[in-house]
Amino acid sequence: MDEKLEPGLYIVATPIGNLSDLSARAAAILSRADLIAVEDSRVTAKLLRHIGVKRPMTPYHDHNAESVRPALVAAMREKAVALVSDAGTPLISDPGYKLVRDARAAGAKVTTIPGPSAVIAALTLAGLPTDKFAFLGFLPAKAKARGEAIAEAAAFPGTLVFYESGPRLGAALAALRLGLGDRDAAVAREISKKFEECVTGSLAELAERYAEAPPKGEIVIVVGPPGAAEPPGEQEIDASLADAMRTLSPSRAAAEVARRLGVPKRLAYERAQRLK
Ligand code: SAM
Repeated sequence: MDEKLEPGLYIVATPIGNLSDLSARAAAILSRADLIAVEDSRVTAKLLRHIGVKRPMTPYHDHNAESVRPALVAAMREKAVALVSDAGTPLISDPGYKLVRDARAAGAKVTTIPGPSAVIAALTLAGLPTDKFAFLGFLPAKAKARGEAIAEAAAFPGTLVFYESGPRLGAALAALRLGLGDRDAAVAREISKKFEECVTGSLAELAERYAEAPPKGEIVIVVGPPGAAEPPGEQEIDASLADAMRTLSPSRAAAEVARRLGVPKRLAYERAQRLK
């Protein structure tokens, strides 16, 4: 246990809520690392206290990564440098890939200590197909960019996973419903913590539930593959057309809605003409 670690970079996954989820191997590596690169030293200090160790920490986050990376990579020649994030697996919607890239380029040993990640934990709760999934991280905050990101994802023939925050959940679900149609979905919240819950339903149901009542805590949205839900009804087609026709001509709106909801173009066109 006290044996010195080989110099290099150790990517260490940490819990996403319940500190007992830290693996024995992760604890052993953190206990012996010469230096731990951390997002927030207060968060990692709590984890180190939990396993009863004190190790030197250095900040590595979005705001200082460019300037401190060269020195960290240089340190890996002689030191065992561990990288952790505040929660879960480093590099997954967290800093780190450039550190791994530069460490490799410098010939350092790079190894990973796998463990919790909210994307995988949410997939295990949602009850949606897991054979093929795409993780899209956080959706853009601005409506236009968010709509574009969702439109890009619409054709993916598998489950989609997004990270989200409570205050933006309602708007994100409404945008997903509009962009993807009314697919089956799940909102997983506070995974592995006291108030863990996973609410399932169609995107329309979930959008309505969270429209006025933003939940607290950390959230993952999981959306099932296209075609898993009921085909869209006339009301939904008309609502989507009316929305699209605010910025597009009826024929372009019809083409866009037909693609998005998976309905025949001619049907969308006829309804758009009636709504015009
Ligand atoms: N690296 C982390 C991982 O492996 O999951 C993710 C870091 S990202 C900055 C933080 C986001 O992950 C949160 O905003 C939330 O969407 C999701 N998340 C983290 N912990 C969570 C939890 N316990 N329950 C639900 N979502 C969580």
